[in-house]
Amino acid sequence: MTVMAQASINRWQNYYTPATVAEALGILARHDGEARVVGGGTDLLVETRRGMHKPVTAMVDVTHIDGLGEISLEGDYIVIGCGVTHSQIIRNESITEHGTCLAESCGVIGGPQVRNVGTLAGNVAHALPAGDGTIGLLALGGEIEVTDADGARWMPLQESFRGPGKSFVDRYRQVLTRLRFRPTGPGEGSAHHRVMRPQGLCLPIISMGVRVALDAANVISEARISMGPVGPVPHLAEPAMEVLVGGPATGSQFAKATEVALQTVKLRTSKYRATREYREQMVRTFLPVILERAVARARRGLS
Ligand SMILES: Cc1cc2nc3c(=O)[nH]c(=O)nc-3n(C[C@H](O)[C@H](O)[C@H](O)COP(=O)(O)OP(=O)(O)OC[C@H]3O[C@@H](n4cnc5c(N)ncnc54)[C@H](O)[C@@H]3O)c2cc1C
Repeated sequence: MTVMAQASINRWQNYYTPATVAEALGILARHDGEARVVGGGTDLLVETRRGMHKPVTAMVDVTHIDGLGEISLEGDYIVIGCGVTHSQIIRNESITEHGTCLAESCGVIGGPQVRNVGTLAGNVAHALPAGDGTIGLLALGGEIEVTDADGARWMPLQESFRGPGKSFVDRYRQVLTRLRFRPTGPGEGSAHHRVMRPQGLCLPIISMGVRVALDAANVISEARISMGPVGPVPHLAEPAMEVLVGGPATGSQFAKATEVALQTVKLRTSKYRATREYREQMVRTFLPVILERAVARARRGLS
């Protein structure tokens, strides 16, 4: 473990790079709520320097932990360690093939510099209503592993959100150690799309992900739709998913599900990004498109 020099602007005093989860938890415990977990730092270090977080005595960087910088296949899941960056995800063949919407969502985050250091775990732990990687993982039915002094446990991603920027994960005492999802197989497909201002860099106008499973008769047997920002937390459009399941994979069904999705979300006008009406139009335009795209990917595996 390395302890780096004091941060010049004094928003934190020490920067640790533990090599094990136990070491990371030990440092957090010693600092008793005064040390914070950091991943790539693309959100946290920028915001801390701007004074948006209370100063801490230490930053605990979890991207150097042995074994957590990798993507692996374990049993029924693709497992992603908390040190894995967006660039690793978009280059990983298992994910581009069997978790396509996650690769697509991580691929639109920031620019190459941000993707080279920013992690999916950091995107999820930040808990913004429209974190792109979060929206992609939510569509896939992702889960997160939270580790603290009591051990490690998995929970569904959608149960971790507590409000804008608020997560079940206590970023001063716990580490989000791994993320996982069930890869898409034959007859399954996924897709992600986001709408962004042309000069935009950070937050999308709308970000949407879908996962579908088809049977041989072209009937949708499973569907997940994730969206953000459409409320205080990343949203799973359950009523729209119910419209799709058991019905044919056709454009008219996709349009019907889209209208149901729109009835159950709260779109807002935001000063620098888009009006409520524009967001509504973007959902109406692009949700059917990504459903069609995911279905086309599912069909490829059916023949
Ligand atoms: C120029 C720029 C452009 C960006 N564009 C986008 C974009 O298009 N879409 C998008 O979604 N985001 C964007 N971001 C935000 C950011 O890059 C991503 O959210 C990124 O995934 C954050 O990951 P990180 O590893 O850098 O997290 P950090 O900044 O290190 O941490 C973020 C939060 O998560 C906590 N945390 C991190 N890792 C863990 C862990 N393993 N366990 C517990 N808590 C943890 C931290 O305490 C902090 O609260 C952008 C940022 C910048 C600077």
